[in-house]
Amino acid sequence: MWRRKSTATMTAPLSFREVCKDLRSDHISGEWRGEWEIALLYRGRGLNGDGVFWGSLTGRRFVKYDIKTPRMGQTPGKRTRKCGRTTKRKACVMSNKVILVIMDGSGYEAALSQCGYLEGAVELGQARRWKMITATPSLSGPMYETIHTGLWPHEHGIVSNEGMRASSSDNIFSVARAAGKTTGAVAQEYFHKLYVEHPWDRLRSVEHNDLGSNIQHARFYSMEGYGPINAVAPAEIDLCAQVTLLAEAHAPDYLLLHSCSADTLGHTFGGDSAEYRYQVWMIDNALSRAIPTWRDLGYEVIVTADHGMNAEKHHGGMEKIMREVPFYYFGEAEGLPEEGAELSQLGIAATVLNRLGVAPAQGMRPALF
Ligand SMILES: [Zn+2]
Repeated sequence: MWRRKSTATMTAPLSFREVCKDLRSDHISGEWRGEWEIALLYRGRGLNGDGVFWGSLTGRRFVKYDIKTPRMGQTPGKRTRKCGRTTKRKACVMSNKVILVIMDGSGYEAALSQCGYLEGAVELGQARRWKMITATPSLSGPMYETIHTGLWPHEHGIVSNEGMRASSSDNIFSVARAAGKTTGAVAQEYFHKLYVEHPWDRLRSVEHNDLGSNIQHARFYSMEGYGPINAVAPAEIDLCAQVTLLAEAHAPDYLLLHSCSADTLGHTFGGDSAEYRYQVWMIDNALSRAIPTWRDLGYEVIVTADHGMNAEKHHGGMEKIMREVPFYYFGEAEGLPEEGAELSQLGIAATVLNRLGVAPAQGMRPALF
């Protein structure tokens, strides 16, 4: 393929630390090959100046090849506007940036009936959508961890919202970070507890920038005082705005958006209420303005939910309405599941990592594509 082109010249081996430092600041793609080798392609300002580079990391040493001709940008062939760069499609396939949207509590039927923008994108062929089956118990905290680890709650150990604690399993944030990727999130406080190693500071943790954390850049919200008389849910468009600003400021490779509002209104009014359905539509209404912008910023976008909601204002059990959620995909991946397939929620973690060009962790269930 494009490896070992005749124009490549090898530079001195670099230390692992030097490579990681360089890649965090300026890279466009990477692909794990096997357990120990990473092949990289990146443009811009590298350790040896501007140019296009590729190289491989084997064990603890990195050998970098400087391709004098920036052929990835000049090669005629299929280019993609959606990647936001004038690169060959292959480069984008190797390493993509992904925004994962979790519409908390938005079940499959509610999404299909209310999400006019998302469903329109499916009809137009701009996106694909499948039914996804959650793990159980179909509760928020356990499903956040299942989505990010590819494990059942019985395996990752967070089986109840009352048992929330820091994640102890390999997850999208930790695996991506270990591979030199940048991570970000706009999410409720639970995600801070799961993936940020510091205690929650009520006056400071809502804004988070720490390159040493598994979530490196985040805007969290607490929902303190949440209940039937006050949903204390942020506006959907404000959450989308925060994601956009994080994407523009830090370009995280993996960026999570978690919206709580549909779950909140479902618990207050029930999953068969006008209030719940309206809020599911409100999320879609905000995404209709955000997704085109995120696509232009170079992101693939996945939209799904942690669980559904029944008419008795509840979830956590085995009812279809609790376990069936939508899974929308805006992106360029090939080998997608066939139309009508029912997907497993446990495949999300490996799928996202695959799209980032990072090898999934051992134990994660197989990727969906
Ligand atoms: Zn939830």
